[in-house]
Amino acid sequence: MSAGPERWAVVGGGMLGLTLALRLAGEGREVTLIESAATAGGLASPWRLETPDGPVTWDRHYHVTLLSDTALRGLLAELGLEPELRWGDTRTGYWAQERLSPVSTPSEFLALPGLSPVAKARLAATIAVGGRIRDWHHMEQIPVAQWLTRWSGRATFERFWLPLLRAKLGEAWPDTSAAFLWATIRRLTAARRQGLGRERFGYVAGGYAKVLDRLAARLAERGVTLRTGATVERVEAASGGGLTATVAGAEPEHFDRVAVTTDAPTAVRICGGLSVEERERLQGIRYQGIVCASLLLRAPLSPYYLTYLFDEMPFTAVVEMTALVDPAELGGHCLVYLPRYVAPDDPLLDAPDAEIRRSFVAALARMHPSVDDEAIAAFRVSRVRRVFAIPTIGYSARVPPMDTSVPGLHLVGSAQIVNGTLNVNETVQLAEAAASRLCATASAVPARVES
Ligand SMILES: Cc1cc2nc3c(=O)[nH]c(=O)nc-3n(C[C@H](O)[C@H](O)[C@H](O)COP(=O)(O)OP(=O)(O)OC[C@H]3O[C@@H](n4cnc5c(N)ncnc54)[C@H](O)[C@@H]3O)c2cc1C
Repeated sequence: MSAGPERWAVVGGGMLGLTLALRLAGEGREVTLIESAATAGGLASPWRLETPDGPVTWDRHYHVTLLSDTALRGLLAELGLEPELRWGDTRTGYWAQERLSPVSTPSEFLALPGLSPVAKARLAATIAVGGRIRDWHHMEQIPVAQWLTRWSGRATFERFWLPLLRAKLGEAWPDTSAAFLWATIRRLTAARRQGLGRERFGYVAGGYAKVLDRLAARLAERGVTLRTGATVERVEAASGGGLTATVAGAEPEHFDRVAVTTDAPTAVRICGGLSVEERERLQGIRYQGIVCASLLLRAPLSPYYLTYLFDEMPFTAVVEMTALVDPAELGGHCLVYLPRYVAPDDPLLDAPDAEIRRSFVAALARMHPSVDDEAIAAFRVSRVRRVFAIPTIGYSARVPPMDTSVPGLHLVGSAQIVNGTLNVNETVQLAEAAASRLCATASAVPARVES
């Protein structure tokens, strides 16, 4: 009689589930990765944009890598993709009072409209103070609005900070802790510090399509079974020990341990046997979703990778990807993303593409009069109801733990990222930490014994 390798199911094939599956397999586990979409990748997955000159494939959502993203870069190096990273300096702009202006250098910053010199000095001090704080636990106990008003003053909070908070957090900004700002400033200053004062971002030539292809090939080499187009409807304790995972339309399948990497409401729905306290904890996590349009244009719009918006617009920023990415990657087109972060029940998530196109393109044309239907080679809308967990006051005390009361059932989700922003580097770090922790702790259920 010999004990076979521990059999794991990983539910969710985003970057978290993919990395977790790779690391578990590296520890000798037999892993099945189950993903509901037709292809793996989740928020990082690529899609096709149909243009009159043929299809173009790129990431469904804008993605950049920082020099300081060491966990992600380690994974890319392992996949042989480090030489495929392309780095570039980017510039930032803002749209205020119907005018587009740069805001990348200190002198451009001093030209920000609507703020007195004293207000600008306080604003600069706020960013510097935020960047020097080491203890995020303290920031987590203060509402972000209170912290910003204390350092920047009420007028600057309302004119400068509030539009930026609303852009990412929507109406959840009053409930968000200052740790959100701390994590955001830390990531932005990392981009600048490592890039010698300028913002330096990178991307893999070929985009996430190439990263995901390599990752799938490596998983296959490691013996991981990747099942796509398979939605897990139920995970529960099996009568003879271990767990069963049931995919829609299929028979329950037995595993020794299961890791669920989805958003918290999905985890509550599919995981049977959780305690009332565990369910309440998961249900208490608030999410922000996104409606994100991709536009392929025939000509560039601006020199800015990112344009902040201080005037009310139907989208909350303009991300001109080809200010960084070589347009040759996109059939010579210019790729622009128009994101709008929304609450999971926002009606915009159910609005038809044509309606979103009408309002987004009309607003973009106000900023860039060259934009009209003729200038647009492709337009496609991505909608995701739950993108990231909102870091509310005292969030880290309410984060769901990885172990559940159901033996062998583990939750590993992006809601467990407590002191960072949602990005692939944090995601890879979480997956790697989870794999070593979960492999170090034996399952409470006996491993299957094969004869
Ligand atoms: C607009 C936008 C911009 C971003 N920009 C950047 C950036 O510039 N740089 C960066 O590093 N990161 C960026 N990110 C973040 C990055 O995309 C995420 O950190 C990462 O993709 C999260 O991976 P995940 O696996 O945790 O979640 P997800 O990608 O959401 O994966 C979860 C997976 O679970 C699957 N699933 C759900 N329910 C089930 C079920 N019942 N059965 C089976 N499968 C199921 C889903 O289909 C999905 O594939 C951005 C994200 C967005 C949305």
